[in-house]
Amino acid sequence: MTPDIKNIAKNEICPCDSGKRYSICCGSLHAGKEFARTAKQLMRSRYSAFAIGGLGDYLLQTWHPDTRPAVSAEQLGAKDTDWIRLEILDANQSGVTAMVEFKAHWRDETGRVQIHHERSRFLRIKGRWFYLDTAG
Ligand SMILES: [Zn+2]
Repeated sequence: MTPDIKNIAKNEICPCDSGKRYSICCGSLHAGKEFARTAKQLMRSRYSAFAIGGLGDYLLQTWHPDTRPAVSAEQLGAKDTDWIRLEILDANQSGVTAMVEFKAHWRDETGRVQIHHERSRFLRIKGRWFYLDTAG
């Protein structure tokens, strides 16, 4: 299934701050052309899905079934936060588990930059990475 990615052009620089064009970065994951090879890559693609908006299906598909929220793809894809930058602080992977620590910068209604700091946990099932939960 290829979602209709209408909020970003293929040639734009990817919101995950890789410096690469969207089409050859998170775009190919969002379009279902390939799966994330590492938890860090999945983390980046989930951030950019939130930043772009309209990609609730992708966010649900990459969320571990045990912790996946009971919300619709429309709700998850709603662009209600102005994400402006992702900063990966640490990423480590051991077997089928991984942890990625990051700071996601966003702009509040007053224009002030705020930082969401999180350590996300990931699990690999049958070769595919899933977001599990936040370790704080
Ligand atoms: Zn990207």
